[in-house]
Amino acid sequence: MKCTRCKAKAEVHLRAHNAGFCRPCYLEYFRRHVERAIARERMFTPEERILVAVSGGKDSLALWDVLVGLGYQTTGLYLGLGIGGYSDRSRETVEEFAAARALPLVVRTLADEGPGLAVPDVAVSTRRVPCAACGAMKRHFFDAAAHEGGFDVLATGHNLDDEAARLLGNVLRWQRDHLSRQRPVLAPSHPKFVRKVKPLYLLSEYETAVYAFMRGIPYVVEECPNAEGATQLLYKDALNRLEAASPGTKHAFVKEFLRSAQGLFAGDAARDVPGECQQCGMPAYGALCSFCHLVREVETKRARRAAAERPGA
Ligand code: SF4
Ligand SMILES: [Zn+2]
Ligand SMILES: [Zn+2]
Repeated sequence: MKCTRCKAKAEVHLRAHNAGFCRPCYLEYFRRHVERAIARERMFTPEERILVAVSGGKDSLALWDVLVGLGYQTTGLYLGLGIGGYSDRSRETVEEFAAARALPLVVRTLADEGPGLAVPDVAVSTRRVPCAACGAMKRHFFDAAAHEGGFDVLATGHNLDDEAARLLGNVLRWQRDHLSRQRPVLAPSHPKFVRKVKPLYLLSEYETAVYAFMRGIPYVVEECPNAEGATQLLYKDALNRLEAASPGTKHAFVKEFLRSAQGLFAGDAARDVPGECQQCGMPAYGALCSFCHLVREVETKRARRAAAERPGA
């Protein structure tokens, strides 16, 4: 196959777009795609400061790399989840990426926060599934770091596959409140929140992997061990089968939802105006935000367990 742009030998074939690219043209295609998404959705401007949540995986590092290349002001944010060797390798990868490019990086480690909040420990203490504990803590630390650092925007590396799987899950259960928030740009609902954006929302996992490979970005290939068996993977698998039979399905699913249906759910989000958490001051829908609730639960349950284990108890 020949490159769709310059007619040289193509190195990558994108069935969904019925296009092929040589290496320089592919990198250009990817950058332009991100640039257009940023402009079309008014995600941010060159004057704004962007906090990029990086996990060490291909998507978030590809995102950081492309934003730097496009000249945006970026700082990375890495949250150490305390998930054994996976977290150690992720942190190393992110730190090496930032150091090699002299980019600013903020590192927070859950095990060092509050009473010790490594994901596996919190999951055991609260009898939650690890992903539920992890999700609540990620949201809190991302929001808090963006607010404390005075950033304008928080960018995440969610790609088309993530968005299509999430959409499928939301549609299967008709979760109106979730559908109302499924957008590539989320305006802040409180002065302590910042705008949240997903510049890769229409680029597939394959496309970001090719970009990372061509740019020579080392990334952590292994998935978080807790991801195995997650419902999200089941949806991704189903969508991959549909995509194989009918290329372009994922793209059309997400793009058409945003174009034709998402607005129908927008009213469901209008009522969501949070107050402030009495403990940490971040936005909350009750006296405590869900993160502080979780911390309190960890502390109570650990104290109870320690009391029960004391000799003579
Ligand atoms: S798969 Fe791992 S990183 Fe993702 S939410 Fe679950 S515990 Fe957190
Ligand atoms: Zn070319
Ligand atoms: Zn709180």
